[in-house]
Amino acid sequence: MTVAIHFRLARRGARVVRTQVGIVGAGPAGLLLSHLLQLRGIDSVVLEIRSRDYVEQRVRAGVLEQGTVDTLVASGVGERLLREGMVHHGIELRFGGARHRIAFERLVPGRAITVYGQQEVVKDLIEALLKAGREVLFEVSDVTIRGADTARPQIGFTHRGRGLELDCDFVAGCDGFHGVSRDAIPPGVLRYFEKEYPFAWLGVLARVAPSSQELIYSSTDRGFALHSMRTPQVCRFYLQVRAREDIANWPDERVWSELKARLETVPGFTLATGPVLEKGVAAVRSFVAEPMQYGRLYLAGDAAHIVPPTGAKGLNLAVNDVRVLTEALSAWYRGGDTSLLEAYSATCLRRVWRAQHFSWWMTALMHRFDDYDEFDLRLQRSYQEYVARSEAAATSLAENYVGLSLS
Ligand SMILES: Cc1cc2nc3c(=O)[nH]c(=O)nc-3n(C[C@H](O)[C@H](O)[C@H](O)COP(=O)(O)OP(=O)(O)OC[C@H]3O[C@@H](n4cnc5c(N)ncnc54)[C@H](O)[C@@H]3O)c2cc1C
Repeated sequence: MTVAIHFRLARRGARVVRTQVGIVGAGPAGLLLSHLLQLRGIDSVVLEIRSRDYVEQRVRAGVLEQGTVDTLVASGVGERLLREGMVHHGIELRFGGARHRIAFERLVPGRAITVYGQQEVVKDLIEALLKAGREVLFEVSDVTIRGADTARPQIGFTHRGRGLELDCDFVAGCDGFHGVSRDAIPPGVLRYFEKEYPFAWLGVLARVAPSSQELIYSSTDRGFALHSMRTPQVCRFYLQVRAREDIANWPDERVWSELKARLETVPGFTLATGPVLEKGVAAVRSFVAEPMQYGRLYLAGDAAHIVPPTGAKGLNLAVNDVRVLTEALSAWYRGGDTSLLEAYSATCLRRVWRAQHFSWWMTALMHRFDDYDEFDLRLQRSYQEYVARSEAAATSLAENYVGLSLS
């Protein structure tokens, strides 16, 4: 047990510690994996380079698919989510001076999305793990994975100034796009599929009540804007900006004036403004590493794939990966069945590529590309109108947005 491990480390000065699954990274993927494994009686240790405070305050995703909500609720960490999460039954596309609602309740009956901040999911998971007596080791450094292709992989790390080693049956690389897990796999094993977009997203968190009940995806000549929300008092906005844009070029007044220019494009809509709590620029990219496994090292979440945020899929994919990995590890611990572990990468990649396509498609549908000529712009408008008017096209958007069940 993790608590016992900590006790052993503290009391006896052990340097090598035994656990069943060593997890690198305490983002949604790593924390949820540890939680789901714990429910199956499988021991794990989570190693995180940042502080607990940092990971609990990190503002990122906020749109949870139905399947993600179901997973969190069924595993006992959905109490606050059900109380505070905002269930949405549609989104709005805004272009050509008009609103076009994608009505989930009509197009995909019984399915919806829930708006609940990623940092709230992280807080709920950390609380559940600590309550269950698990310890997540924050502020570790020098994390290295060795022997991934052996039956006893090891993770070396430094914690509170001491060099330690985790001796594991399996390692889960849940350390995001910039982590070390992918690099622990020898060159030539992984194949990378990548796409960099010629723009970035400027994300803004502001203390202001939403100006709309639902998310607004707005496509304009000035570029794309998204009106989202986190709570009834806090909103999240995004602006398409130049790639590698310097945030210093975006004082709050400019942010609000540009958001107004891109969102106040339909009669009767006024964007409410308020104090900016946080803002930053994030690259927009598509990335997949295949396969998501090497020996006994399994990659999950952003460590294996990144999607443009337009489709709101990143966090949901991370949840799906660890759900699949939990089932596979449980089957192995129950009776040595390796079939689900062997299928892990292929199972996850089916959903990953569906999400990649949908995220790329939504991005192309709503953004302004610098190299678009008049012909391209007319094609884009024609497609936007098709999605707004055709029941079949709108249903395709809706079923992808709320999340397809593929595994
Ligand atoms: C600015 C931003 C905005 C986003 N907005 C959205 C959105 O609106 N909708 C959406 O669906 N998705 C969004 N995403 C994507 C979504 O947040 C990610 O897909 C999600 O966080 C993936 O979870 P994860 O656990 O795989 O990775 P992460 O959340 O990145 O967690 C990885 C963890 O590993 C830790 N770590 C890194 N290296 C090491 C190491 N060497 N050792 C130990 N720990 C390490 C990190 O500190 C981190 O805590 C956004 C991402 C960013 C960056």
